[in-house]
Amino acid sequence: MQTQDPDSAIRLTDTDAALARLSAVQKRYLDDPFLKHLVPRAHLQQPRPYLINIGTYVRATAIDDLVFQWLQNSAAQGTRCQIVSMGSGSDTRFWRIATGPHKDNLAAYIEMDFPEITTKKAMAIRKSKDLSAVLGDVTVAPGGTGLSSPKYHLLPADLRLPPADTFGRLLASDSGAVLSPALPTLLLFECVLVYMSPTASSAVLQWFREYFSPQGSGALGSIVYEMFRLQDSFGRVMVDNLKARHVSLPGAEPYPNVESLPDRYLNLGFSAARALTLKEIRKSYIPPAELQRIAQLELVDEIEELDLVLEHYAITWGLFVPPSASATPWSQ
Ligand code: SAM
Repeated sequence: MQTQDPDSAIRLTDTDAALARLSAVQKRYLDDPFLKHLVPRAHLQQPRPYLINIGTYVRATAIDDLVFQWLQNSAAQGTRCQIVSMGSGSDTRFWRIATGPHKDNLAAYIEMDFPEITTKKAMAIRKSKDLSAVLGDVTVAPGGTGLSSPKYHLLPADLRLPPADTFGRLLASDSGAVLSPALPTLLLFECVLVYMSPTASSAVLQWFREYFSPQGSGALGSIVYEMFRLQDSFGRVMVDNLKARHVSLPGAEPYPNVESLPDRYLNLGFSAARALTLKEIRKSYIPPAELQRIAQLELVDEIEELDLVLEHYAITWGLFVPPSASATPWSQ
């Protein structure tokens, strides 16, 4: 008898993330003209409850803002930058940047996920004129598991494997290096490290930190979005719900509170790190005009419940500035 692939439940979380984002777009919390090309039968999908829409809105807006600052700061320093998105799933950020005001500030954008996910995404990209027109000349990987274009690269990878093998190929000049240590580089982990062991996530971050340490390297930034604080009663409900779907969250174990989240960077020698919960971001960082706009989209009758959900998700960002690199806005 064939046993079920234990990673299939983890891969399904991409569908959850894409449908949550699609719902936030349908309800006009977010604007994303590209997503419908990556979600099968997008026009038939039903919107999600407001708790999910608002959470998705706060998380997406905050990460977009950090990424925007990174692109803007690189431009101010007269250099282009690179972005590596791990566990990128059906994310559309590349297309939004490549058609936005910072398109010329981007030197390379790399997405990595399990081969089943990258194969599906590569196929959707090739099928959609809107997505492929943004890429320019495209080379499809053998077996269709990924693709490469002048700026955008979609690569199959299991992030739990030894980082030197996974990321070494990004640097191999014989196959055309896609990543340069000289340029400021931003790593994105949007709801992915939580599914990996803390040892495997640290190995990825440490590999990049060491790769960007020598003189002549650019600054390294990293943004992690994930659930945490799973030891309290609401956290245990989240864990049980996912367990019923055969998904476990080993990556959240070392982080019982928001104060512990920056440790994932500081313990590896990053120069600075900071974490904010989605509850804090919604209350203190979303501009009042935007809060007013989204308040009109749906009736929120359970504000305590919304706060309870939002305080179990956080964005944690870390910065490593090698001796010769300039700092970025996050160092302040
Ligand atoms: N980052 C996307 C977003 O925020 O919309 C997708 C998030 S989804 C919750 C998690 C993604 O991480 C899935 O696409 C899953 O396949 C990927 N993932 C989880 N563990 C992974 C691993 N060990 N290697 C590669 N990808 C992984």
